[in-house]
Amino acid sequence: MEPRSVQEAVRLLAEHNGEIKVLAGGTDLLVSMKLRRLKPRYLVSIMKIPGLQGMSFNPESGLRIGAATTIRSLERSALIAQHYPLLSDAAKSFASVQVRNMATLGGNICSASPGADFATSLLALNTQVKIVGPDGERTASLEGFFTGPDRCAFRPDEILTEFLIPSPKPKTGSAFMKLGRVSMDLAKVNAAVVLTVDGDFCKDVSIALGAAAPTPMKARKAEAVLRGRKLTNEAIEKAAQAASAEAQPRTSFRSTAQYKREAIKVLVRHCLMLAFERKPSK
Ligand SMILES: Cc1cc2nc3c(=O)[nH]c(=O)nc-3n(C[C@H](O)[C@H](O)[C@H](O)COP(=O)(O)OP(=O)(O)OC[C@H]3O[C@@H](n4cnc5c(N)ncnc54)[C@H](O)[C@@H]3O)c2cc1C
Repeated sequence: MEPRSVQEAVRLLAEHNGEIKVLAGGTDLLVSMKLRRLKPRYLVSIMKIPGLQGMSFNPESGLRIGAATTIRSLERSALIAQHYPLLSDAAKSFASVQVRNMATLGGNICSASPGADFATSLLALNTQVKIVGPDGERTASLEGFFTGPDRCAFRPDEILTEFLIPSPKPKTGSAFMKLGRVSMDLAKVNAAVVLTVDGDFCKDVSIALGAAAPTPMKARKAEAVLRGRKLTNEAIEKAAQAASAEAQPRTSFRSTAQYKREAIKVLVRHCLMLAFERKPSK
């Protein structure tokens, strides 16, 4: 089914509840269906709904990205590269061009994989998500959205329609980094940082980690180490250690928990340094 409006899609989801799935780029869903992990009777594609693809930026209100926007569009966007370089980093390190051409931002978040690259990036950016269901529209913080591995806080008859990302504060830099077994794979572990400085001091910082816990997470203790402090090598090292200590990594076929703890220190340290280098002078 290929509805031409969100309302029509939501109606179809409610009508076939339990037997239907939203299809975006299909790079997760079709793999799960092929492996017979999921057997929906119907699919409702959201790719022909006007307004679900694309992005717009306003210096006051920030960035709006439609849920069906592809990772390739983010990678190629000059707007994203200028204002949100960590999203460019995440797009460039994501799978292959073929996968990036199909995969959408909404699909990456709704798959709710603990290591989804954009879950980590969008968490660091304090993103809000807009969700539409039979009862209307609601906006929620992405931080409360992930409820467990591969699970998120929305009903099967709801559709995620857009992402709302605050405008970057002055003197803010950002970075995303990922360690994977090979390039065409989810991360062993990933990290994203948004850093606002005042001279050599950390005015504000947001640090997120992926594949470091059952859900993508904010590293609150690491943030507290840096906020209001001078950005010395020692302070950065302490924050990296704190992020590693507060993570709850599990051993999986991609990596051991011990390796992930070590990798988190390296990624957080490098992201902080890169974000610092990238901050504009004004
Ligand atoms: C070879 C390969 C490499 C990959 N590499 C990476 C990688 O490097 N990094 C990474 O993070 N991921 C990677 N992935 C995973 C996958 O590509 C991403 O998660 C992708 O962003 C999913 O988007 P999609 O549009 O294809 O989602 P789909 O497969 O269409 O959907 C995924 C899930 O989300 C639901 N859904 C999709 N959109 C919505 C919506 N708007 N509202 C409600 N529900 C929705 C679907 O019902 C389904 O349950 C890889 C996958 C493959 C096959």
